[in-house]
Amino acid sequence: MDTPDKMSSIEPVRLSLDSRFRFKCHSGVKCFTKCCRGINIILTPYDIIRLKRRLQLSSEAFLAVYTSPQLLEKTDLPVVTLKLMDDDMQSCPFVTDSGCIIYEDRPTTCRYYPLGVASLSHKEGADDDGFYFFVNEPHCLGFEEDKEWTIREWRKDQGVDIHDEINAGWTDLVVRKRSFPANIKLTEESKKMFFLVSYNIDTFRQFVFESSFLDRYNIDAKTLKKIKEDEIALLEFGLKWLKDVLFKEGNSRLKEDVAASKP
Ligand code: SF4
Ligand code: SF4
Repeated sequence: MDTPDKMSSIEPVRLSLDSRFRFKCHSGVKCFTKCCRGINIILTPYDIIRLKRRLQLSSEAFLAVYTSPQLLEKTDLPVVTLKLMDDDMQSCPFVTDSGCIIYEDRPTTCRYYPLGVASLSHKEGADDDGFYFFVNEPHCLGFEEDKEWTIREWRKDQGVDIHDEINAGWTDLVVRKRSFPANIKLTEESKKMFFLVSYNIDTFRQFVFESSFLDRYNIDAKTLKKIKEDEIALLEFGLKWLKDVLFKEGNSRLKEDVAASKP
């Protein structure tokens, strides 16, 4: 699997949900698992939740062991990628000769492959989140198979809809930030908050329930109960809160950041 950013010199063909393509990936293809090496997989908030549950780790421990930090181009937002092994092929830590050992919980980017999704890439024009493209790697022989799909069918088959639904608030933040002029910067504090909510859900939970957060924000009892019991609800709450903190009209943190960044 290659990365959208490695392919950034190639103008992507924009695909819609009804675009058709021929593709099949199975253990009999000659290129089996080649796409799981030398890769750059940006992880989404829901990817981290699925993976840390699968590996029975805290979000903090998962981040420390399995991820590398990166700034998402044109957004200046801190994201994480899956940390590769230190072997000749820079393999994904979850690939074996017989395939992916965490397949049921594989990240969003792996589910989309051989498609790329604009919001998770460094592509020009990626401010449009309804935009897919072929990653187009020469070693991928799946295009020679005869199974035909629409992109809509592929997404359903790969179980990516639930990922996109839960990540929607996060994708919206990324796309929004990307649409701002390059000179508009977030403060380090804002970036830390973005990282905390997006990736470190266990520490964000502590921040909500064990700091003065609940004294400063008026949260109704029903929401409070829900976010206490349900990690996905906590993530969705956090992303809404983040949007409010970073982009709220009138008294916006981003506006304060812009003002602070002026000479
Ligand atoms: S997580 Fe699984 S599918 Fe994705 S690159 Fe690693 S081994 Fe391949
Ligand atoms: S067909 Fe493509 S997606 Fe499947 S294993 Fe080969 S390179 Fe990876």
